[in-house]
Amino acid sequence: MMRLAILGSTGSIGTQTLEVARWHGHRVVALAAGRNSESILRQAHEFRPELVAVDEAVADEVRERLPAGTRIVFGAEGLEAVATAQADVVVAAIPGIAGLAPTAAALRAGRHVALANKEAMVVAGPLMWELAREHGGRITPVDSEHSALQQCLVGEDRSTVAALVLTASGGPFREGPKDLSRVTPAQALDHPTWSMGPKVTIDSATLFNKGLEVLEAHFLFEMPLEQIEVVVHPQSIVHGLVRFKDGTLKAVVGPHDMRLPIQYALVGPERPHTPLAALPLRGSWTFEEPDHQRFPSLNLAYRAGRAGGLAPTFLNAADEVAVEAFLNGGLSFDAIPLVLEQVLGEAPAAALTWDAIAAADAEARRLAQHHARLVAS
Ligand code: MG
Repeated sequence: MMRLAILGSTGSIGTQTLEVARWHGHRVVALAAGRNSESILRQAHEFRPELVAVDEAVADEVRERLPAGTRIVFGAEGLEAVATAQADVVVAAIPGIAGLAPTAAALRAGRHVALANKEAMVVAGPLMWELAREHGGRITPVDSEHSALQQCLVGEDRSTVAALVLTASGGPFREGPKDLSRVTPAQALDHPTWSMGPKVTIDSATLFNKGLEVLEAHFLFEMPLEQIEVVVHPQSIVHGLVRFKDGTLKAVVGPHDMRLPIQYALVGPERPHTPLAALPLRGSWTFEEPDHQRFPSLNLAYRAGRAGGLAPTFLNAADEVAVEAFLNGGLSFDAIPLVLEQVLGEAPAAALTWDAIAAADAEARRLAQHHARLVAS
């Protein structure tokens, strides 16, 4: 049994983490959610955490109906209180740039962070590692591909690694249409294998999610970008591979169920029993090259990684704006990478600091809105 704090408890990763907690009887000590008051109240009554953080807009409503013994906090301090609660593992599952500050707070408190918020690594990877090393914290990946890579690396000498290979499902438009200008949000949200939140589902359809994951792997494993490969594997059964210098490949194969990488991030390298059905070894598993013509966002991520500094922050912020514009009908699907490319081209060459990230994020959002309007008109 372990003590868990969950940042983003009502989202896709948060609710699946609670499912893992139910399997093993983990104690949930602190939960942070946004405005979904019904969902957070249900969780609070089931798990009886010591602390619940919510958006200020729903704080009064939630306070009245919390179980006795659960304290409520809100705003940025609320998130920090959950991030630094007395927990064995803090699950960082608030998506986007909003998840950055609480993740940093958890590392500053020396916590083991199970990281689902890939943006934390993408925009601030070196700073996150600095905090973890300085305060004795740990970072384990929740992202299924990175979890697979970490599992492949167990027991291996890092100097024997030739490359990390990330698998991509290819998204709903892998086989067509050739012209992506008319695809709708509903079509883009219909992901073939994984069930996830809307932002990451659109990012999977553009392959930008894989781009973020390339950057995440680059910073998380401190591997040069030239040693990170992407291969399209539509069945999503092989989650990640490591290529070794002797020519051997090691892969992690398993059902596509996020509860497995979540569990590994919490208790790995231990492998406690789960109620998941055994994966049948039937059918064919295929691997193909990503289509960089139709999905240019993937290469933009490599470009941002090579530029370094604040370029990943620029690219990430531009994508948050562009995806939102697409979901609201204000931008066509194939215009998303155009906005990213424009904004990335304007990233300044400057050193990576916490203050610079915040300023760069705001500036990139402003630029992205500007370019989205230009592209749409
Ligand atoms: Mg992933």
